[in-house]
Amino acid sequence: TCNDGELSEFLESGFYRFKNSNSVFVDPVRLLNRSHTRFRVSPSAYYSRFFESKSEHGGSQELEVCSDSKKRKRKQKKPHSLNERERFAEQRHQKMKPELLKAHEALLSATDLLSAMKKLRSNFQSSITEPGVGKSFVELGRVWQAPMYEITLNYQQSSVFDQCSKQRVLPLFNSLVANETNDDVEAEALNKKFILPRGGCFYMSELGQIHNLIPAESDCGFNLIVIDPPWENGSAHQKSMYPTLPNRYFLSLPIKKLTHTDGALVALWITNREKLHSFVEKELFPTWGVKYAATFYWLKVKADGSLISELDLFHHRPYECLLLGYCSRKVSNLENQSAPRPVKDNQILISIPGDYSRKPPVGDLLLEHAPGPKPARCIELFAREMTAGWISWGNEPLHFQESKYFLAD
Ligand code: SAH
Repeated sequence: TCNDGELSEFLESGFYRFKNSNSVFVDPVRLLNRSHTRFRVSPSAYYSRFFESKSEHGGSQELEVCSDSKKRKRKQKKPHSLNERERFAEQRHQKMKPELLKAHEALLSATDLLSAMKKLRSNFQSSITEPGVGKSFVELGRVWQAPMYEITLNYQQSSVFDQCSKQRVLPLFNSLVANETNDDVEAEALNKKFILPRGGCFYMSELGQIHNLIPAESDCGFNLIVIDPPWENGSAHQKSMYPTLPNRYFLSLPIKKLTHTDGALVALWITNREKLHSFVEKELFPTWGVKYAATFYWLKVKADGSLISELDLFHHRPYECLLLGYCSRKVSNLENQSAPRPVKDNQILISIPGDYSRKPPVGDLLLEHAPGPKPARCIELFAREMTAGWISWGNEPLHFQESKYFLAD
């Protein structure tokens, strides 16, 4: 079923909505480019995995599974003895499976999209993102010299600033750095170049400093809060990518204090561990004061449209969940506040994954469901990239803003 209108809309917007379905295919590169004016995100740098052909056996995902002997043992044990928690996880999975299959079938029958998917990564520029040389932000933020590191913002001459203030120098760590212009700004720090989107801010710090983002007045709080915590999952591979934190640390995230007086939509990425799922439902959301509203699913496919792993693979599902809930500052509850359009449960987002643990941008899908005044005030916690008009917080929010992730002009 080809549908010209839908495809041209996709090439324009990055969204391909399947008819009569609760699923949408997205191209994160196109969505990220919405944040930028002069620069373009490099498709080959974004799509660093999952473009390999079927014959090449063993993508990085498979290696991860095999290198983790603990996982392998559990997988072998599975058919004989599912413990109570595993049975619960299996039930959750079985309940959603028909929906996920339906979404995948919709993708496979959209032949126009399938051929466009193969071209999402332009191949002439192969793997330009060598692993970073030198120390990461996470390491640099911890050394005693950290307070002395600076970032220099180089404004375009045509910016709102007068001729004499074409540069601005700010501390790199523990400080709010904003591009308050309407254009991309190039910045320099630690001898590397970064691209800051219009109206984008970042605050690079460890968890201990997050209270510095709590607004002095609550009507300056946030209406949309996207969180992708560094959950522990026990894999050695993950630990080598970024530091993780035990669940109890997330209980102290000041979500309510970050929430706008009119409330906030909170979107939390979780992994497929049942233990984590129930921790969020029973402890984390209640502690934050968040009322559960819906679950979105991110279904991960390769460039040829196939799922990145078998749907039934117990410890390596080809999907992740985004739990949505509302946080209210008022005792009076959400009912009498300016109600946003209600979120539909079980929506499915399909995309080809980028770098390890990188999530597709969900801001555009969530904005219409955020309560309070427009434009909504948005923040991403544990961010590794910036979005136009948003605040990004984490210990490496500039990670994917480095110029190597953008096309050379
Ligand atoms: N959503 C991101 C991935 C986040 S991974 C994306 O799509 O790319 C979790 C992030 O939390 C990592 O960048 C990790 O370095 C960061 N992190 C881990 N411990 C932290 C801490 N104590 N304080 C701040 N950030 C932390």
